[in-house]
Amino acid sequence: MNYVILDMEWDSAYHKLHKRFVNQILQIGAVKLDENFNIIDIFDVTVKSSISKRVSRRFSELTGITKEMMLCGISLEDAVKQYNNWLGDDTVTITWSNSDLYTIAENEKYLLKNIKFKIDKYLDLQVFIQGVLRILGHELKSQISLGSAAELLGITTDNYDLHTAKDDSLLCAALLKKHYNEATFDKLIKDTNDPEFYKQLYFKPYYISRINDERVQKETHVFYCEKCESKLRRCTKWKYHNNWFNANFVCADCGKKYLCRVSYRQTYDKLIVKRRMLEPKVKQNKEKNDVVQSVPTTV
Ligand SMILES: [Zn+2]
Repeated sequence: MNYVILDMEWDSAYHKLHKRFVNQILQIGAVKLDENFNIIDIFDVTVKSSISKRVSRRFSELTGITKEMMLCGISLEDAVKQYNNWLGDDTVTITWSNSDLYTIAENEKYLLKNIKFKIDKYLDLQVFIQGVLRILGHELKSQISLGSAAELLGITTDNYDLHTAKDDSLLCAALLKKHYNEATFDKLIKDTNDPEFYKQLYFKPYYISRINDERVQKETHVFYCEKCESKLRRCTKWKYHNNWFNANFVCADCGKKYLCRVSYRQTYDKLIVKRRMLEPKVKQNKEKNDVVQSVPTTV
């Protein structure tokens, strides 16, 4: 089995026919790795836009690709054809974050007529590397950039021209070579021919907004007084606001009042339930009793 790390640079341009902006791919870079993650080949092409004669200033500054370079490129159709031929069979395609997959889908929909990118098995390297970072004790609040991840993992980015497709792929390759771990890596390889793959990719997490929804769990709406531990009595209806259900509660024993909140967030494979108890009279509401639980669901 081979591994290919694919990276693309894209620029937004207006598509007159479709009356919308499209993130057109203007550069495709990739490295092919053998089973031991040694680099055995490099792919690097610049693409000529079919909908615009210029590139945005931001894109040009970020990638170093000028209008002149873009205009000397090959068509996206030809670039994808060349890439697919170069890819070969039995290959795991790897990208840094799955945003490349959305862009590929967008380009296939609006700019490519007769050809699609060949992607069979797929792995999101960002997910894998974030796992490595967490094991090493790094707290990650949001998705980490490739450059930051490399620096945290002791790979200097000085020798890489970041935000060019080829060098981003090379940097990914260096990260992978250094931190590959069979047990966690192999588990992340997905089969894109499985219908669930794209279902999951396009699933948008959302908050449940109707209190009568069958996934709303009545037992989650039981709260206890912090002072005397008695069960609280709800004295208003649940009101939905900013992703939370809110209701006023009172303790029948000591009379203490509370604002209790519950939220239900549905992700692709689980329902995330959060509960909070606030003291309504204090001006700076102190949030207490943060309880987060995840309930596996089938979707
Ligand atoms: Zn009480």
